[in-house]
Amino acid sequence: MCAKKRANWSKQKADFQARLGDAGNSLDDLFADVDRRRNEAALRREGELRIKACESKNRYAHLDEAEEALAWCVARGRRGLSIYECPYCGGWHLTSKPRRD
Ligand SMILES: [Zn+2]
Repeated sequence: MCAKKRANWSKQKADFQARLGDAGNSLDDLFADVDRRRNEAALRREGELRIKACESKNRYAHLDEAEEALAWCVARGRRGLSIYECPYCGGWHLTSKPRRD
């Protein structure tokens, strides 16, 4: 191998490694991007859940108020409601969904 070829080869190798380095970096970026999107999706889901489970409902500050409201509904033939403590606002809401816990 003459000196010129050897120099060429070193240059090619360096180029190749530089490209690999870039690829490695953009892979990191890609993963960061995926993470960010996943977080955004989780936040959006969390927001939707919050609206569904809390903000769109009547809020009762105390359990006995919620029980009163439930009794009011039952007295008017509304069945299948249950009361749950809201993890978002710390109050109480009525739901027609069966309890999952
Ligand atoms: Zn709430």
